[in-house]
Amino acid sequence: MANKNELTDKIVSLCKRRGFIYQGSEIYGGLAGFWDYAHYGLALKNNIKKLWWKRFVEDREDMYGIDAAIVMRQEAWQASGHVSGFSDPLVECKKCKSRFRADQIPKSDLGKTVCPECGGTLGEAKKFNMMFKTHVGAVEDESSVSYLRPETAQGMFVNFKNVVDSFHPKLSFGMAQIGKAFRNEIAPRDFLFRSREFEQMEIEYFVRPDEWQKSFDELKNESLAYLADLGIGNDKVHEFEVPDGERAHYSKRTIDVEYDYPFGRKELFGIAYRTDFDLKNHTEQSRVDLSYLDEGSKSRFIPHVIEPSLGVDRLVEAVLCNSYSEDEMGAAATDADTAKDKRVFLKLPPKLAPVKIAVFPLLRNKPQLVEKAREVFGMLKKEFAAVEFDDNGNIGKRYRRQDEIGTPFCVTVDFETVEKGAGVTVRDRDTGKQERVMEKDISRRCQKIMG
Ligand code: ATP
Repeated sequence: MANKNELTDKIVSLCKRRGFIYQGSEIYGGLAGFWDYAHYGLALKNNIKKLWWKRFVEDREDMYGIDAAIVMRQEAWQASGHVSGFSDPLVECKKCKSRFRADQIPKSDLGKTVCPECGGTLGEAKKFNMMFKTHVGAVEDESSVSYLRPETAQGMFVNFKNVVDSFHPKLSFGMAQIGKAFRNEIAPRDFLFRSREFEQMEIEYFVRPDEWQKSFDELKNESLAYLADLGIGNDKVHEFEVPDGERAHYSKRTIDVEYDYPFGRKELFGIAYRTDFDLKNHTEQSRVDLSYLDEGSKSRFIPHVIEPSLGVDRLVEAVLCNSYSEDEMGAAATDADTAKDKRVFLKLPPKLAPVKIAVFPLLRNKPQLVEKAREVFGMLKKEFAAVEFDDNGNIGKRYRRQDEIGTPFCVTVDFETVEKGAGVTVRDRDTGKQERVMEKDISRRCQKIMG
């Protein structure tokens, strides 16, 4: 297996070659921190999001979905503390002018901080607000200032009263949202990991103040179970209790769940106890009462909040790192012409794979094979949707292409299928083994493994 950044480079290159993810604005030289999802990457990302939504919204009775606007009035960002406090320390090299996040620079032996690019002296750290600023409407003055949201969370807090008035939920209950967030990161890096535009899946879970711990544990465990469902192995996942002084301005307790990426152990998602910080501040700023009337005790109070916040793109990258595999397909390979070739494949859990099944006629110039393969394709497509037909190039190349995008099964129609009614071959991505399966059994066979 490839080492550290070599592995990331291989994944970036596979993503481009096979239509998963492209560098943003590539034809103009690229724009750092922005990525464009292509057909397969989008399917993978959507599968990751769908599983989250199912687990945390559809399968529960205490969650309310929302899709709030990205741009809000500037007062919302003043109340949340982002205008004054959402900043990272920025340092500039006096010699080469490169800019870095001060807290991410390794110290030299002398304990003196030097430029990682040229070894020059670094200037004083300055606060750099990471929100993208914009103006709403035709007039660009202080009153029209707004920001692209740096987290989806605030779109939920500002709608707390609306949701309570519409649905009359009983505590504890949550609001859930999947959407874009934007941060003008000083140093975007490590592929999707640190982007300037990314997606978050967040829950704001409202609880009675004395019940926060129970919900914190429940949502943390449920988020870890979700990771396991994505096939992200336990041995690469670690919990980090963020100490006092290092937590975000709103948090009384935070656990970062970290993953062993090829470039180091880094935060995959966080779960924070936000107390009543946000609802209290929005109440003060907006002068709209965001307290909750507890029917049982007839008392009125501001609920406390537990927030699991997951970065979709960091999950996409973790899933890719986790499933990227290389082997030499020797004994297991039945396609003799490519046997012993180095093979790259994505060992994606079938439910995440962008394509579930690929169907091939053995040869494209034999009408009876093509016709039968089209028939099998039509049948499977109706049932599994994410099914592809491919008759391009030799069969070995077609297998390799599907291996690289992580397709769990390839179904091939050959002469035995049409001449002897002997069924099709079904090839398993991970072992390369082929099995004869009667046509009527293909769908059951695939379904069993897909789970
Ligand atoms: P970091 O310390 O890595 O900058 P953070 O602690 O600021 O992250 P949060 O504010 O807790 O991150 O954001 C919640 C989640 O959003 C993160 O756990 C991560 O999954 C995702 N996220 C945050 N910043 C980025 C980014 N620049 N690119 C991609 N995902 C991000």
